[in-house]
Amino acid sequence: MGKLNGLAVITGGASGIGAACARTLHQRGAEVVVLDCDIARADRVAAELGGHAVAGDVGDADAIERVVEAIEQIHGPVEILVNSAGIIQRPVSPKVLPMAVWDEVVRIDQRGTYVTCVAFGSRMAQRRRGVIVNIASIAGMRSMPLHAYAPAKAAVISLTQNLAAEWGRAGVRVNCVSPGYTRTPALQAAIDRGERDISSLTALSALGRMVEPEDIGRAVAFLCSAEASAITGVNLPVDCGWLVAPSWLTYGGLPTPGDGATA
Ligand code: NAD
Repeated sequence: MGKLNGLAVITGGASGIGAACARTLHQRGAEVVVLDCDIARADRVAAELGGHAVAGDVGDADAIERVVEAIEQIHGPVEILVNSAGIIQRPVSPKVLPMAVWDEVVRIDQRGTYVTCVAFGSRMAQRRRGVIVNIASIAGMRSMPLHAYAPAKAAVISLTQNLAAEWGRAGVRVNCVSPGYTRTPALQAAIDRGERDISSLTALSALGRMVEPEDIGRAVAFLCSAEASAITGVNLPVDCGWLVAPSWLTYGGLPTPGDGATA
């Protein structure tokens, strides 16, 4: 795959999918800035990649505006933005989901993605050059008992489409990747709390495995590259086929090789 040039900011780059994106973009030639509210972990990832770490809360529009200003003053124009900062929630009924939790999930996952897109993307549009990849989720594409998280991720898919049209003529591409269940610290913590069943996560995907953070990093790097120069406004699921498999349960489940059902 082609090389990437210039400065890439990865929100949530201190952990999981964001850290994998930072590593892949660095391997492909980008200079990385890890923007995260956890500055200690951001420092560690940035040091490993010879990049830079910046503290910031993506939900705080004024703070992010100052952060963008400082990054561009010190390191130059940002060419690539990957929005991976996000939080998940416990799967509970609306009756027991506190509105404070709902508000915080929407503040970070939806508002934070929009705030960061606007802060960096407006500058990219002025320069007529740039690419943004938002990390949405398969949760934004299906029904599940995540009454704050899933709608917030559906909104990320929608705002990606809107901003792609808004900035297309200004030379800025905006896409999103929707990961399936991906082996990260956040998902592992949910599995450890008994809130996700690892055997069903693999059993319900066509490929029979979970997504690794590096799978997302490679898809993000592709969307950032010149190879994707005609692609904007899309939502690319990277889910090991989770979206296509569960409906087969109605017909007895997926065929397994050697059972005579596959030819
Ligand atoms: P993670 O917890 O490993 O990493 C998230 C990072 O975001 C952390 O470093 C955290 O400090 C940072 N962050 C959280 N709130 C922030 C804020 N307000 N400002 C700045 N940084 C903040 O989680 P992950 O699993 O790698 O998830 C990354 C993204 O991928 C999230 O948007 C998540 O919704 C999405 N996603 C994850 C999965 C999965 O299965 N892991 C599936 C689909 C989508």
